[in-house]
Amino acid sequence: MTTRRAVCPGSFDPVTNGHLDIIGRAARLYDEVVVAVLINKTKSSLFTVDERVDLLVECTAAYPNVTVDSFHGLIVDFCRDHGIQVIAKGLRAVSDFDYELKMAQMNNGLADVETLFMPTSPLYSFLSSSLVKEVATFGGDVSGLVPDPVLQRLREKLGG
Ligand code: ADP
Repeated sequence: MTTRRAVCPGSFDPVTNGHLDIIGRAARLYDEVVVAVLINKTKSSLFTVDERVDLLVECTAAYPNVTVDSFHGLIVDFCRDHGIQVIAKGLRAVSDFDYELKMAQMNNGLADVETLFMPTSPLYSFLSSSLVKEVATFGGDVSGLVPDPVLQRLREKLGG
């Protein structure tokens, strides 16, 4: 039988509890899950790609079938190169849907890759990496929204 693999792609700048919820749920559905950090040189980021990968490795250590990688270019090329059949994503609200639907349709047209949408836990519906960074920058409490290693690294980077 072929190994069923899914990828969870994103910027993960930094990984949040919302991401980990989706990664954990995908890990229960597939034999192997690859978390793929998008290398986007035009987008400014707080954490380097290596830092983001290291944090993801630390925060997904409890899942034996999850690995972490990085990629640039098209996600469908990454899927083809790694024998991945499915892109697994979380949908936070209807506002995510418009863009995600277009991307899923494009990816399915470009290659034989399916997209699985999972409804985000209502606990994390409002949560995004950018909001976490904004709140943390001004000294707000983001514990409970990000895993402990991220909390530590945010404090180191932003002070406080
Ligand atoms: P992007 O680089 O597309 O902004 P992110 O790194 O913020 O992406 O997130 C990557 C993916 O993780 C999203 O496309 C979405 O599927 C999922 N995701 C993001 N935030 C959450 C959340 N709060 N709850 C569940 N899933 C999320």
